[in-house]
Amino acid sequence: MSKYWSDVVHKLSPYTPGEQPKIAKLIKLNTNENPYPPSPRVLTAIQQATNGDLRLYPDPGSDHLRKVIAQYHGLQADQIFVGNSSDEVLAHVFQALLKHQRPLLFPDISYSFYPVYCGLYEIAHCSVPLDAEFQLNVEDYLQENGGIIFANPNAPTGCNVTLEKIEFLLQQNCDTVVVIDEAYVDFGGDTAIALIDRYPNLLVVHTLSKSRSLAGLRVGFAAGHADLIAGLNRVKNSFNAYPLDRLAVAGAIAAFEDQDYFLQTCQAVMATRERLATDMRELGFEVLPSATNFIFARHPRFAAEEIALGLRQSGIIVRHFKLPRINEFLRISIGTDEESASLVSALKVLLHSS
Ligand SMILES: *Cc1c(COP(=O)(O)O)cnc(C)c1O
Repeated sequence: MSKYWSDVVHKLSPYTPGEQPKIAKLIKLNTNENPYPPSPRVLTAIQQATNGDLRLYPDPGSDHLRKVIAQYHGLQADQIFVGNSSDEVLAHVFQALLKHQRPLLFPDISYSFYPVYCGLYEIAHCSVPLDAEFQLNVEDYLQENGGIIFANPNAPTGCNVTLEKIEFLLQQNCDTVVVIDEAYVDFGGDTAIALIDRYPNLLVVHTLSKSRSLAGLRVGFAAGHADLIAGLNRVKNSFNAYPLDRLAVAGAIAAFEDQDYFLQTCQAVMATRERLATDMRELGFEVLPSATNFIFARHPRFAAEEIALGLRQSGIIVRHFKLPRINEFLRISIGTDEESASLVSALKVLLHSS
């Protein structure tokens, strides 16, 4: 607390990111990073961009990258907005498109950054409970609103809503923007990007942090009708005109140019996920179906917090949210097969020794 703070700062409840431990050799399964490095082509592109041109500002519109992303998804460049991580893109989305008299709707269990942005931008909001199986029912969102946002597949539950249901929601909700945060879509979800040309109220947000192994580079984007993108650009150009640096642009372009590597690493993560889910079910865990690079699981006889502590002592970190409804669950990011095997061995020891 400081008397020098602006009023709004006193009222904020900031997001708490998953721990980034300083200890080496931990098996880190707590923040949904990709266990595989970025494509070698990305590293080469960044090395090549590391030159004297860094004295110059980057292209404020990241036009080349936007063109590459647009082409990849069959859209026009003016339907793409890029930012320094999807968190930054989302922040601009909240301010530019979701702040209205009526409340913004999002699930009670979802990405915990959404209520944080509402606090920062003083946005009226209302949480809509997922059902008892943690499924999102689009019918629950057919009420007066100033916008709708959810992650699909959802985090931290991993559950996926079909495109038919999203299309129904878009049709029934044409007066406000529906934002689909597809941070995990490449691991088995259905992208709504194909609906963009038909629904001017749809905005889809992606990140390169998870499926393209670039959490450290900080690149995300939004795809939607050019009018929505124009609104985002007005906010961006009132905040930071050069959000993507030259290295980030070079790396991001190269990531989209290495489709084979992308598909291969996503497949590997999904295969490991299915094996881990099977192994954990054999240990008695209830594992929610996942279309992401993490699984969400609970054990009927062991407290999640204690399992997390026990794993930590074996050098493995997973995420536990001390929140209503999900206090008994652990969110475990998918690592390599080797990391997964270490996790399963550690769980076996823990469950049999207590
Ligand atoms: C990881 C994540 C993000 C943020 O991704 P960055 O681009 O790294 O900021 C956004 N939304 C959801 C649901 C996420 O899980």
